[in-house]
Amino acid sequence: MNFSSKLLEDAVAEFSKLPGVGQKTALRLVLHLLNQDKPEVEKFSRAISKLRNEIQFCQVCHNISDTNICEICASHKREKSLICIVEDTRDVMAIENTNQYNGVYHVLGGLISPMDGVGPSDLQVDSLIQRLETGEVKEIIFALSATMEGDTTIFYLNKRVKHFTITISTIARGIAFGGELEYVDEVTLGRSIATRVPYENSLTR
Ligand SMILES: [Zn+2]
Repeated sequence: MNFSSKLLEDAVAEFSKLPGVGQKTALRLVLHLLNQDKPEVEKFSRAISKLRNEIQFCQVCHNISDTNICEICASHKREKSLICIVEDTRDVMAIENTNQYNGVYHVLGGLISPMDGVGPSDLQVDSLIQRLETGEVKEIIFALSATMEGDTTIFYLNKRVKHFTITISTIARGIAFGGELEYVDEVTLGRSIATRVPYENSLTR
């Protein structure tokens, strides 16, 4: 693309770094911003820099939060003996939207993927073990994508946690899952949590 302005070119270059945004879309977004009032664009750029500078991760479950302990972990209404293990914050949002789950979460921050060079040490595994060592947890539920990475991660974690006297479950998978949890509709996801099965049983089916 030949740009008539270096400022325009730089802005387009930044936008096209976003996932799923090509140069054409980036240009359209930048031109859209140029048509906005200056205070609106200020607000937009402030929101992004505040997000990056001020966001925190919950010290307990590693979910994205405005405080060092997230609202879910801090709530007295949530069942602390039940931990749902998820890949990232989008899964927490998807499960919260079902209004069917009253436990807490553990956000791994990714899935084991040897192809992408992601190993167990890149994920929040040690802190999960520490949570189990307190003896307060009675059940963990794996709610990970039905992909090779999801399966590998569950297999690894199950090995690490099976000596604890806890119930290890996995959400009913393989029905409407196209892979990623966040794309599952709320009803299906809610039902798959309610009808979760012991992990060992899920392997023999
Ligand atoms: Zn938390």
